[in-house]
Amino acid sequence: MPFPRDIRDIALVKSHRRCCVCHKFGGRSVNVHHIVQEADGGPNTLENAICLCLRCHAEAGHFNPRHPMGTKYLPTELRAHRDQWWSYCQDHPGEPAGLFLNVGFKSVSKTAEIHRYRLIANYTNTLKEAQDGWKLQIYFPAFVPLFPDDYDRYETRLGGTPYIELESSSHDRVFPGECIEVVPRNYHFIEYEINNEVFHRLHPDQMVLWKFFTPNAPVIEGEKALMELQEF
Ligand SMILES: [Zn+2]
Repeated sequence: MPFPRDIRDIALVKSHRRCCVCHKFGGRSVNVHHIVQEADGGPNTLENAICLCLRCHAEAGHFNPRHPMGTKYLPTELRAHRDQWWSYCQDHPGEPAGLFLNVGFKSVSKTAEIHRYRLIANYTNTLKEAQDGWKLQIYFPAFVPLFPDDYDRYETRLGGTPYIELESSSHDRVFPGECIEVVPRNYHFIEYEINNEVFHRLHPDQMVLWKFFTPNAPVIEGEKALMELQEF
């Protein structure tokens, strides 16, 4: 059974008709889905509702639990994405829009000794005017083994801690409503490894930070704890 009309309306409005995982504006192709599937006893309540675009819905829903590759979307993670996005929308009622940068991590390979992740960043131009170009700076704690391909790379210190800064930029025009991948771009990846040594140095305070610049909007700054590795 689908969600009752009123629950569906509340979920769509609270999400600004955007996907709660990738934050892309969905328009008519965004839909309200069950976090815990009905077949598994998930109820038709707001608590169990999430707005997802078609792509994220396919990723989250069609995952084969017996397939060894990839990180599963667990209901707890989906709910956390949703709550985070709803609170962002609530804090920005006037600009459901604003520029949006979504940064996440994808697991690429795992052995007993080494886990390798790839950084992913998507930028949505939700302003009314096109943006001519952008620049992204990403900062990783220096002890993390990084495998950048064709990224400018600088050593720096933040709050006394050594960091590696990676920079990526483009002069391409990004149109209103357009969502583009800023990392990886043109098959240039930023990957990093968590091996035993790195794992033992991981601490909740160790952040990956970023700054994102566009010509007509304020700088977007963000950070995520290195320990919070998750796929999106
Ligand atoms: Zn999505």
